[in-house]
Amino acid sequence: MNKNDFNEGLLGFLNASPTPFHTTLNMAMMLENAGFIKLIETQKWDLKKGEKYYVTRNDSSVIAFTFGDDKNYTMVGAHTDSPNLKLKPNPVIKEHGVVKFGVEPYGGLLLNPWFDRDLSLAGRVSYLNSKDEIQDTLIDVKKSIAIIPSLAIHLDDKANKDKTINKQTDICPILTTNEDFDFDEFLKWQLSKNKILDVKELYSSELSFYDTHSASFVGLHDDFISSARLDNLLSCYVGLLSICSVESDKPMLFIANDHEEVGSESTSGAGGSFLENTLRRMYKDYDDYMGMIRSSVLICADNAHAIHPNFPTKHDKEHSPLINKGVVIKINANQRYASNSTTVSKFMNVTKRLTEPYQQFIARSDMGCGSTIGPITATRLGIETIDVGLPTLGMHSIRELAGSDDAFSLYKIVVGFNS
Ligand code: ZN
Repeated sequence: MNKNDFNEGLLGFLNASPTPFHTTLNMAMMLENAGFIKLIETQKWDLKKGEKYYVTRNDSSVIAFTFGDDKNYTMVGAHTDSPNLKLKPNPVIKEHGVVKFGVEPYGGLLLNPWFDRDLSLAGRVSYLNSKDEIQDTLIDVKKSIAIIPSLAIHLDDKANKDKTINKQTDICPILTTNEDFDFDEFLKWQLSKNKILDVKELYSSELSFYDTHSASFVGLHDDFISSARLDNLLSCYVGLLSICSVESDKPMLFIANDHEEVGSESTSGAGGSFLENTLRRMYKDYDDYMGMIRSSVLICADNAHAIHPNFPTKHDKEHSPLINKGVVIKINANQRYASNSTTVSKFMNVTKRLTEPYQQFIARSDMGCGSTIGPITATRLGIETIDVGLPTLGMHSIRELAGSDDAFSLYKIVVGFNS
């Protein structure tokens, strides 16, 4: 695979994955195409050496693994979720001549960039059919159906100085001027587009707004990739392609968890039991299990802050990652990142062998530092971990920016761990 093919595939993946549910479905389809066998958590597992498997939880997180004699796994971790505006359970508000939707911010999103965007809606819907069975399905409206208009500057003289945004009142997307709008009818119409007509009653849904503007190359020489959800679909794509590229006798595992942006505490989050449950089913003998844990390494890939050329003082001068200058190794003395000198050295050694670049990041000592799934997974399982990421600008904006060289470089490094 060359960089252009990799990046074209990445853009397609970004556009087809507006929510963690769609991301997981797309990854499951790609894993099946690559020969991975689906496992169901509620059924008995009969794993055979030489085969490759995958399993999902909550339709929003996935684990894929090869299974053979070697237990020294290279594991890659990522997360499927991104900050967004989620629809409230009773979302419809009819006032001032329009129908608008009540929304709840999910994760630490930058709110300003959500104004004046063409928005669509996607996610999971649960309903009762005529046999009284509860069914789940995914919908993606795709069309731009809503928008959050800015308040005109004439009505807000502080707009360019002290703008504050009220999360309850200021960010409700406007849907239509037709006040006959009925939310259940709207959802049933979306289900009918998926050929689902047997809907006795709609129960619950998890729907998120997203920007309909497609992922694209930007820059004089296509230097950048501009898209929603680069954090962390970039790493999902790198991990997915890596495990699809390795031979089935090479011990590799890929995990993409949901709910990282809200602290990872859920059944499908990195703080939950999904990975541990899966590993214990792979290695029923506790000594085998512990041998695998302690001989494996987990590469947690989440986005890293590139130095912003207009705000350079936000970075430590000696640790200021640049776009298109390689994957970033993330270090924090207070264990907000799980990297240690042993795992960092292993990673550096692979990059050296492949002549791929790397950079190192620590936050300024007088500033806070985000965290990620690395320390959570390392703490829970006792697995040696390194936190890495691709240099990104505008993290948690509705549209983020990364380099067009860096994701492919990380892909080569991850595959290189196993060769
Ligand atoms: Zn992230």
